Amino acid sequence: MDTSKKFSLYPCCILTQGKQRALITDIQRCKYKLIPLSLYVLLSDYKEYTIEQIIEKFPNEETTILKYYRFLLEKEWGLLEKQGESMFKPIAPVFYNPMLITNAIFDYDRYSQYSIPSAISKLEELHCENLEIRFYDVFDLDFICNNVINSLEGTSIRNLELLMQFTNENSIQRIIDIYKMCPRLRKVTIVSVPKQFEKILNNGELVVILTSEIVRSETSCGVIKPCYFTPETAMYLESLHYNNCLNAKISVDRYGNIKNCPSMTQIYGHIERNTLVDIASMPEFQKLWHIKKDDIKVCKECEFRYMCHDCRAYLIHPDDICSKPQKCSYNPSKQ
Ligand code: SF4
Ligand code: SF4
Repeated sequence: MDTSKKFSLYPCCILTQGKQRALITDIQRCKYKLIPLSLYVLLSDYKEYTIEQIIEKFPNEETTILKYYRFLLEKEWGLLEKQGESMFKPIAPVFYNPMLITNAIFDYDRYSQYSIPSAISKLEELHCENLEIRFYDVFDLDFICNNVINSLEGTSIRNLELLMQFTNENSIQRIIDIYKMCPRLRKVTIVSVPKQFEKILNNGELVVILTSEIVRSETSCGVIKPCYFTPETAMYLESLHYNNCLNAKISVDRYGNIKNCPSMTQIYGHIERNTLVDIASMPEFQKLWHIKKDDIKVCKECEFRYMCHDCRAYLIHPDDICSKPQKCSYNPSKQ
């Protein structure tokens, strides 16, 4: 290792400082690694120093400093450069999507009175590309084909996700057949599956998740776990500026009410009486889109904040819209 050079992180390797630890997130390779705060300081405050100069500054820490830089090079998170030179420009911290609404959730159960085809046609006025439909009761695949798959023909929807209740093992082959007809189907989560059938299947771009988890209403949403972290470029950039769950989202709950998300209490209209485009254009409807992770108590000190999905529906202090998500058990101050 040439210690007469400085170490530069690649621009896609993002440093995030937490209260007790820090994180390097490789937003291109979608990987992340916790690092000690001492390494964070070297990579941020001393990034223009050569390794030799850093060792001169902290002579008692030479072994640790050399170990840190060998580790970073091994991980391919950066390169050694001449002092004063820089081969890469940082990623512009800009997030822009020309669409008013980029993602939608429709919830549906056996008591739902609204028409899914008509809701899809109202969503089409917004040219929305991502739709998730969550079925909280058992509906057979013919119902789903007739009401969802056939209604997507010629629409802007590029990614369809379904949450369905388990019926029997044979439904998996049928789902794969539906995917062949409708490649927009990207993810199917089948819940209430007997433990012995739990698995994850990949077929082309379709992922089918069979889980024993029980999901019978919107109250199951909002759980924060490391397995849901998304260490990706779009998530990182959106999280810098907007709420990474609710930004550009519109939802229809089981009763047909139009909301920011089905778990929210605020109702803006009804899918049978209002258009989604009118509701989505209301400044009042958009106000939650601007609560970013850096505005949220506790989260703003958490090293995971730019890859952790936020939840504004279930809050630790329901009267404080900037309080931490209730369904997160992580405390960034206590590691
Ligand atoms: S705000 Fe919370 S409950 Fe609503 S969609 Fe997001 S994670 Fe789910
Ligand atoms: S919800 Fe907040 S505190 Fe919990 S992991 Fe995510 S960013 Fe950290």
